[in-house]
Amino acid sequence: MSGRRSVTILGATGSVGRSTLDLIARAPERFEVLALTANRDAAGLAEAARRVGARRAVVCDPDARPALDAALAGSGIETGAGPDAVLETAALGADWTMAAIVGAAGLAPTMAALQRGRTVALANKEALVSAGALMTAAARKSGATLLPVDSEHNAIFQCFDRAHPEAVRRVLLTASGGPFRRLSLEEMRRVTPEQAVAHPNWSMGAKISVDSATLMNKGLELIEAFHLFPLGADAFDILVHPQSVIHSLVEYVDGSFLAQLGAPDMRIPIAYTLAWPERMATPCERLDLVQVARLDFEAPDETRFPALRLARQALAEGGARPAILNAANEIAVAAFLAKRITFLDIASIAAETLAACAPPPPRTIDAVLEVDRAAREAAGTIMRRYAH
Ligand code: NAD
Ligand code: MG
Repeated sequence: MSGRRSVTILGATGSVGRSTLDLIARAPERFEVLALTANRDAAGLAEAARRVGARRAVVCDPDARPALDAALAGSGIETGAGPDAVLETAALGADWTMAAIVGAAGLAPTMAALQRGRTVALANKEALVSAGALMTAAARKSGATLLPVDSEHNAIFQCFDRAHPEAVRRVLLTASGGPFRRLSLEEMRRVTPEQAVAHPNWSMGAKISVDSATLMNKGLELIEAFHLFPLGADAFDILVHPQSVIHSLVEYVDGSFLAQLGAPDMRIPIAYTLAWPERMATPCERLDLVQVARLDFEAPDETRFPALRLARQALAEGGARPAILNAANEIAVAAFLAKRITFLDIASIAAETLAACAPPPPRTIDAVLEVDRAAREAAGTIMRRYAH
């Protein structure tokens, strides 16, 4: 290969995947694309593969193979299909891999990329929430560099003195507070999916937007942070900051606070991981602090947003608890989006599922996937009592 960095994007057709492609397409002198994967959007994948000159394009759903082959006929781009082809692609050993498959489907490919010992930019937060200890152990064993993409964790990574973790007193993850920050519990009972997905600052998929409204996203991010930075669970706190200008902060023992600020555009944290340990230019909007004028902060309210308490408990109890919470939440969010349960039922169903499941700590990715499957089934049963 030339002096260019070889890159693979797992989940290339999604929101994070497309932002990554946008940056790579602007810097062809720096990157050469080894492979792109998607679930079943053959047309979107083929278009992206041609645009960046990928060597290989793979769909997870075998039914999408004919459309992918047809769209790439004559291009010289190799095609593949099926979960095993995605796994193989993850294990090709690109210099840099973006793990941006959403949900549990991303666990095995992310693990395969980490085991190759290169650089993995990790967006798939479920991989760290459900299997954080396994993922970080695999990275240590292979010598892989794990770079966090989630904006809060990327901000912490930029501010965290990894050579002196003992000098860090606390990490503060900022949360916008979501669209219902000011609503009473009574008002929250009646909110609709349309209101929940209208995030005030970030443009994201429906599931993560609902998670931002319940603050479950911040709860899951607390667990994610615990696996990425070498501090005890109690050293991570949440700070509501409605403007989403500060993406997180690190407090040191001497009283210094370091923060990362920027426009709410995922291309900024993604660019940081693409260029690391250097920096690269992005076309992102510049933060105009005069325009921003003020930054507000408040404490999170765990009574109105019980998801935060559930996540903290799951983290403290460890083992399979975070995977159960994540799975139950996914089932409940899907039901809320389908208008079968109310907004407040999401956290109640997650709490009941946590109470109903007690598997031993999973020691392999297959065991995590089994915990995930069983928790989804339990949540589905519990949900029937809530559905209207
Ligand atoms: P998305 O739904 O927009 O895209 C998901 C990608 O995964 C797509 O390319 C899809 O084809 C692929 N995919 C889905 N199911 C698959 C399967 N079964 N097998 C193989 N591939 C599959 O999601 P997104 O918003 O880009 O988020 C990706 C991940 O990054 C998530 O874990 C999310 O929590 C995290 N994240 C996203 C943002 C954001 O701003 N969008 C911010 C922080 C973290
Ligand atoms: Mg985030």
